[in-house]
Amino acid sequence: MATFDQYDYDVLVIGAGGAGLRVAIEAAAHGVSVGLICKSLLGKAHTVMAEGGIAAALSNVDERDNWKVHFADTMRGGQYLNDWHMAELHAKEAPDRVRELEAWGALFDRTKDGRILQRNFGGHKYPRLAHVGDRTGLEMIRTLQDYSIHQGIEVHMECTIISLLKNGEQVAGAFGYEREKGRFKLFGAKAIVIATGGIGRAYKITSNSWEYTGDGHSLAYHAGAELMDMEFVQFHPTGMVWPPSVRGILVTEGVRGEGGILLNREHKRFMFDEIPELYRHQTADNEEEGWKYTQGDRSAKRPPELLTRDHVARCIVREIKEGRGSPHNGVFLDISWIKTKIPNAAEYIRKKLPSMYHQFKKLADIDITKEAMEVGPTTHYMMGGIRVNAETQMSTVPGLFAAGEAAAGLHGANRLGGNSLSDLLVFGKRAGEFAAKFARENKQAGIDHQAVEVIANKAVEPFERTDGDNPFQVQYDLQEIMQDLVGIVRKEEELLKAISALEKLQERSRKVRVIGNREYNNGWHTALDLQHLLTVSEAITRAAIARKESRGAHFREDYPEKDEQTGNCNLLLVKGPDGQMQVKRASLREMRADLKQIIDEMK
Ligand SMILES: Cc1cc2nc3c(=O)[nH]c(=O)nc-3n(C[C@H](O)[C@H](O)[C@H](O)COP(=O)(O)OP(=O)(O)OC[C@H]3O[C@@H](n4cnc5c(N)ncnc54)[C@H](O)[C@@H]3O)c2cc1C
Repeated sequence: MATFDQYDYDVLVIGAGGAGLRVAIEAAAHGVSVGLICKSLLGKAHTVMAEGGIAAALSNVDERDNWKVHFADTMRGGQYLNDWHMAELHAKEAPDRVRELEAWGALFDRTKDGRILQRNFGGHKYPRLAHVGDRTGLEMIRTLQDYSIHQGIEVHMECTIISLLKNGEQVAGAFGYEREKGRFKLFGAKAIVIATGGIGRAYKITSNSWEYTGDGHSLAYHAGAELMDMEFVQFHPTGMVWPPSVRGILVTEGVRGEGGILLNREHKRFMFDEIPELYRHQTADNEEEGWKYTQGDRSAKRPPELLTRDHVARCIVREIKEGRGSPHNGVFLDISWIKTKIPNAAEYIRKKLPSMYHQFKKLADIDITKEAMEVGPTTHYMMGGIRVNAETQMSTVPGLFAAGEAAAGLHGANRLGGNSLSDLLVFGKRAGEFAAKFARENKQAGIDHQAVEVIANKAVEPFERTDGDNPFQVQYDLQEIMQDLVGIVRKEEELLKAISALEKLQERSRKVRVIGNREYNNGWHTALDLQHLLTVSEAITRAAIARKESRGAHFREDYPEKDEQTGNCNLLLVKGPDGQMQVKRASLREMRADLKQIIDEMK
């Protein structure tokens, strides 16, 4: 029997973005041994790319803010499909988690009197996002990394996990390969936390980088965990559209928070045309009021550009479809216009949005202090993920936890900007604490080495084939299908077409062929990613078929309204005994009376 290098830990954390690092820090603080694995280099995770900020009701800029307002905003944004207890914990605990980050060395932008500065963002009633210019994620990762290296955590960089191992019902470990040498690595663990981030690479146009192939979602699903809310994929309204090589790269909502406006080719501010009922009383009905809001006038209502992302993205698609788009199939986002309102506007823009300024200057030769940007929707964030317990973050598989973007529940049908970074901190800490507790209370389940050998043999099969598809081509075809048939606007016949196309791709993926050896072989890595991409794509599509209504990020052209009869539930995806994916409905838990009252008062 083959032997592999084996590493044993009390708690194994898969993923080293904001969530994984916060999990690892907390678990180590509880005195257990911790292993931390990441597919790329430590620090190179999505979290580092986060721009706009961390949502937390610190009430530094507007004292009317508090956890109740944040809770109500998060629930409204999620169209009330959120796990309300997660939304409560998140709103209550986020301020402490941000202050803790500051105590660990994070240097936030400041108010005039020296407190953490907060900015406006879509769906948040008051300025709530603690930020560092438009490079908040970089500061967050730097701080967590600096702090974590002193905690005795063992890091395995450039190591990709391809399978979880179980013994009976409990998790026992994980199996993966080193990207550099191609050697396999075996990990034993008493508790495992999945913190692998999103799924953006299942789509052609995305703000996500190469690692985000839904690995954690798929690993947990195949290990018997339930996935939830997979139909809710967030298409961020503003990604770059030109030149083609940069299509999808994010243009932060911070641009609109600082006063940026959306215009169609007729130079009309089209966002005033359609304001959803749920937000009418909170939204400005004229341009001057919208501007005043962005400048901190507390009596003003927010401009419609700061409505939730699902709505803004759909309005942009409507403008493009109806022929009022920009030359490269987008719309215009203009921040330069603020020169008519404030002196030194160019300097102000460069100070507030330094990354955006450089991004457009370098990649599109556009000076955003002088010209409008061209933008359009881009696949950005996954609201759906592994179903977890709100308090502990444990999934339905004993010993298997999840945190961050890979977990579901907090955001419901749509995430508010800034609520992801706070999610990572709040639930990363919780997952670390409870995974450590589980590890202390349970023995390590034994590893079935024969099962590991089967996984290893299957993983190298693509080298043994003499013909078969190129894995890059299969991935490309999958991205086209998801973009065209399971995108922002969905309908039954296209979704069914997607299901049969995905079945064919499954077949092709089983026969892909790679050449060369196992050292840094990108083709092989892609061949192994395909199983995850196909699993999450099937889950998204099946859930999208089952939800016959439009709500939050899920829009059905054939069912354009919300259906209160059938829609008030979460959809779960589970692996059936026959290996087929099943969709189940889970009724929403009755909300606690005190929380219900908060929502009623804030309506
Ligand atoms: C451009 C951009 C800007 C954003 N701006 C904001 C913002 O301003 N505010 C906000 O709240 N949110 C923002 N978001 C969203 C937010 O950044 C992410 O949702 C969040 O960082 C996810 O964190 P995470 O820790 O869950 O995962 P990530 O930070 O994505 O980390 C995932 C980790 O898992 C590892 N991994 C993945 N698969 C495997 C595997 N098979 N084996 C081993 N390791 C694996 C990766 O290598 C990585 O280390 C933004 C996202 C993007 C893309």
